[in-house]
Amino acid sequence: MPSEDPAWTALRRQAAACTRCPLYLGATQTVFGEGPVTARLVLIGEQPGDQEDRQGRPFVGPAGRLLGQALAEARIDRADLYLTNVVKHFKWTEADSRRLHAKPTRREVGACRLWLEAELRLIAPAAVLALGATAAQSLLGPSFRITRSRGAIMSTSWAPVFAATRHPSAILRALSPDRERFYRELVEDLRNIRARLPPERVSSPAAAGGARISTPENHE
Ligand code: SF4
Repeated sequence: MPSEDPAWTALRRQAAACTRCPLYLGATQTVFGEGPVTARLVLIGEQPGDQEDRQGRPFVGPAGRLLGQALAEARIDRADLYLTNVVKHFKWTEADSRRLHAKPTRREVGACRLWLEAELRLIAPAAVLALGATAAQSLLGPSFRITRSRGAIMSTSWAPVFAATRHPSAILRALSPDRERFYRELVEDLRNIRARLPPERVSSPAAAGGARISTPENHE
């Protein structure tokens, strides 16, 4: 469910009018992050897919369903999480009358990072799990490799506990038996990060200060 925090609502409203890169032109709407601003854990994907673009909510398509299954196995309640993407508009190409995912460029990821940074500042999570290379590289730099460092727990300026794992879409695209192995590794990474979460907190440390940001394209 969307947060009712006023600072988060203001951010979301500003992002809804964002024109910082061309992706807004081909998408239905900005798909902002979703979840409580008191969340201890933030999951970050690459960008919304076809279903997310239509519904305006992150992780509601096939990859979101796989993620939901993995969360349940790891005993993490989706309602306790904040879910977002590094890029807030759906980038796609058309093939056989279908809209197929297209990878955002580094420039597009860079343009959109403003919103992700604002979300992370507002929430100040105890832990972040990046889903896929685009999310991990956006926050850790282009040399980060999921194949090399998947599941490794790090301490970063984004969160005291930070890890990266495969994106659920990559698991769906994989062939058996890799697919089953990748899924087990996703569940394992979720369990590992859950084990490092501090006790639940009751209010957002950043909420009192607000999170209004101003960009040349987003003046209200
Ligand atoms: S910077 Fe992000 S929110 Fe803004 S238009 Fe580009 S993809 Fe959309």
